[in-house]
Amino acid sequence: MIHRRPTRKVTLGDATHGFVSIGGDAPVSVQTMTSGYTYEIDKCVAEIHKLAAAGADMVRVAVPEKKDTAALKEIIPRVQVPIVADVHFHFQRALEAIEAGVHKIRLNPGNISDRAQVRDVIQACKAKKIPIRIGVNEGSIIERKDKQKRLKELGGVFSDNKHGHFLAIMITKLEEYLDIFREEDFHDVVISAKSIDPLLVIDAYKAISERFDYPLHLGVTHAGPKETGTIRSVVPLGHLLASGIGDTIRISYANDSIYEVQDGLELMYILGLRERLGAELIACPTCGRIQVDLYTLTQDVRKKLAAEIKLPIKVAVMGCIVNGPGEAEGADVAIFAGDRRGIIYVQGEKVANVPEEEILDRLLKECREFEAKVRSGEARLGEKKVDILPPDPIGELGSGWEKIEREKRGTALPVVK
Ligand code: SF4
Repeated sequence: MIHRRPTRKVTLGDATHGFVSIGGDAPVSVQTMTSGYTYEIDKCVAEIHKLAAAGADMVRVAVPEKKDTAALKEIIPRVQVPIVADVHFHFQRALEAIEAGVHKIRLNPGNISDRAQVRDVIQACKAKKIPIRIGVNEGSIIERKDKQKRLKELGGVFSDNKHGHFLAIMITKLEEYLDIFREEDFHDVVISAKSIDPLLVIDAYKAISERFDYPLHLGVTHAGPKETGTIRSVVPLGHLLASGIGDTIRISYANDSIYEVQDGLELMYILGLRERLGAELIACPTCGRIQVDLYTLTQDVRKKLAAEIKLPIKVAVMGCIVNGPGEAEGADVAIFAGDRRGIIYVQGEKVANVPEEEILDRLLKECREFEAKVRSGEARLGEKKVDILPPDPIGELGSGWEKIEREKRGTALPVVK
């Protein structure tokens, strides 16, 4: 059980797009960002639909040009999820996005620092009750315009304590920026402090969570391709979330944004921060004992479960009798394989012993039937009915112990029925 840090709560959205709260007692939300051009209206709408269908609680779009904020007027009425405008350099884009009906604004203190301009955005958001995320980012935190300031800040980057230097700049810039918001008595604020360095991300969020009571948006900036970005993102985000820090997250991959949503939700599920939607799949990594094509089977099961099962049924796909019975005991529906066969269990009860080519269909049939029983109240998720006994060593799977026995005896394989 994770005890989350108490924070203020902000809410965005409306009756058409749904309401999402961040912080306070709200569940940790998962957000992402479109990767296409916002001004390409149909494509942008299609991408937002796809990300919302995957489970994104809100979707952010880039608005670098006036044609992007103009497009928002057409995009927002066509989507069903709150939209966040990502604003850099031009405070006018924020004002235009607010006018277009956006539900939240992100400002970067690294490139919109003029106090009068920030005040204008705050007042426009206040009038429409729109929250603002103040997002500092390692990539844009160093001063670029003021030469003296830039030299001083860059000096620290080349010091022995680069880590502490960036941390100090992030906190200072946040404090300076938040002063403007306090002066305007505006507190619908979410904060982020992203870096590419996972350890700096951990330290930065720990530090700001001690200083400010605003909800926190967690993220690792430009984490890279999914293949390596997953570890870079999940290590610090998982660490922070498990420590109770973080109220909304965005995982950033150089890939289709749908993976950001899927991985963000999975992180929530495994930490018990959100109730799982759809089946949970457990599968063994396989080893030299394997006697079926478990890789293919696991991928096929994963895709079918994602498409067909809506309840959080626990499904285990195991390669042999070493760990199969244990996992099958804990799962609602399970298969453990033997020599080109698989035994299928539903809540600990053996329901079938089928050849390899029938495993997928039979397993899915049992999942569908079990889901229907849960819906009708005939069965309950996670209820264990019986202890599973591994098959007879000389037994029905023709594998594992049987193989050992056969080798010891030098006898032929028994006929599998
Ligand atoms: S369940 Fe069996 S096949 Fe799978 S990794 Fe464990 S020992 Fe190997």
